[in-house]
Amino acid sequence: MSPQPEPSFRESVELMFNRAVSLMDLPAGLEEKIRVCNATYTVRFGVRLRGEIKTFTGYRSVHSEHMEPVKGGIRYAVAVDQDEVEALAALMTFKCALVETPFGGSKGGLCINPNDYEEHELEVITRRFAYELAKRDLINPSQNVPAPDMGTGEREMAWIADQYARMNTTDINARACVTGKPPHAGGISGRVEATGRGVQYALREFFRHPEDVKIANLSGKLDGKRIVVQGLGNVGFHAAKFLSEEDGAKIVGIIERDGALMDENGLDVEAVHQWIGTHGGVKGFGNATYVENGAELLEMDCDILIPAALEGVINLENADRVKAPLIIEAANGPVTASADKVLREKGTVIIPDLYANAGGVTVSYFEWVKNLSHIRFGRMQRRQEEARHQLVVDQLENLSDMMGKKWSLDPKFKAKYLRGADELELVRSGLDDTMRIAYQAMREVWHARDDVDDLRMAAYIVSIDRVAASYRAKGL
Ligand code: NAD
Repeated sequence: MSPQPEPSFRESVELMFNRAVSLMDLPAGLEEKIRVCNATYTVRFGVRLRGEIKTFTGYRSVHSEHMEPVKGGIRYAVAVDQDEVEALAALMTFKCALVETPFGGSKGGLCINPNDYEEHELEVITRRFAYELAKRDLINPSQNVPAPDMGTGEREMAWIADQYARMNTTDINARACVTGKPPHAGGISGRVEATGRGVQYALREFFRHPEDVKIANLSGKLDGKRIVVQGLGNVGFHAAKFLSEEDGAKIVGIIERDGALMDENGLDVEAVHQWIGTHGGVKGFGNATYVENGAELLEMDCDILIPAALEGVINLENADRVKAPLIIEAANGPVTASADKVLREKGTVIIPDLYANAGGVTVSYFEWVKNLSHIRFGRMQRRQEEARHQLVVDQLENLSDMMGKKWSLDPKFKAKYLRGADELELVRSGLDDTMRIAYQAMREVWHARDDVDDLRMAAYIVSIDRVAASYRAKGL
């Protein structure tokens, strides 16, 4: 018997979509409309570098325009291709619907290894790519709003925003053409940490539901849970840092490109991150066991596995050896459709990508709104809120004087209560709310329907239903 073929990333997303729609009652035409990717633009452009012309290939894919602008990151990686950006664009459609950000789904990518270039070279390449996309409205505040993804960050987003502004000098909303910008270039506090923070909030919400925790054969809270993380980049680093520093979880394994680190007592995430920053990998980090074949740690005995690097890492080859009872997909598509089946049959609970890593797009939404309203969150109400709280505190303390009791409020409580929320607190509060509500929408379907036995299907059903409702309401 020939081995079962592994589906491509796009095929995996489509297989998951197909499984969901088979449980729904959509007219065939509408189902097809939601399934297909509307358009993918491929661009090949030349840049003069180091005395010669180098040609680069980039993509911007628009999966669904049931809401506009469409939204999705731009990835810089050698493996970027049409299949990948289309899969990622489809995931964006469903992700945005699940967390109720008013966007359609899109994604972009450039075939490049950013480590091969100097900063000034990357700037020229990025600006040229942005120019190619912007002149076709594939970067535009009201039509298509990119964000960071693997291999890109604040720096690239600032270049893109500036390039767009230079091409659209009278567009007062130019800054809203891209999100994930640095704070001094129209960004928002809390965007860099947002996806990892969202993973933390997602796990917190999961552990608020003992029945769900029990399905994963776990018990109790996050405190003391043993976690393995793959990829200590933007998403993996923040998730691991917050879970270990704020929730008492132990990061017992970190997998990177050049190997993995293991420590049963819990790794110091910040120290490992700094080590990677200066040495380019985890090898040589003291106080931990180094494993050359890092991927082996995906199969390590632990409570929670967080794949936060790239797609397809849990596949037919290793799925049956993955021991973690709970997987949270911080990366997009880390579990292939075939591996998903193997894991479901084993009883592994998977918190799916379209929910788990939606923190990024959620805070991007806040940034876009901030850019369009041209004012930072909290600016109008912060001091007014503080003044109102001061009134209550004064009244309570006066009351104690009047009663001759001479007590005063605990200074720590007072300081906390009196302080009006700044932008970062508001962003975190909005993100927390979003992650809680979206989880509750998923689990309602998961528990209410006998034919839905995993969170991924529940997530797809909630999302597809919303996309369908949008098409029904406004026509195609
Ligand atoms: P990143 O480039 O900051 O980090 C990726 C990390 O993974 C790097 O540390 C890299 O060295 C490591 N890595 C790469 N290949 C690896 C391998 N084979 N084994 C082990 N480690 C490997 O990227 P990121 O922004 O953190 O994105 C990671 C994932 O999260 C991607 O799937 C991305 O689509 C998804 N995501 C990112 C965001 C965001 O806001 N950045 C939002 C949603 C989803």
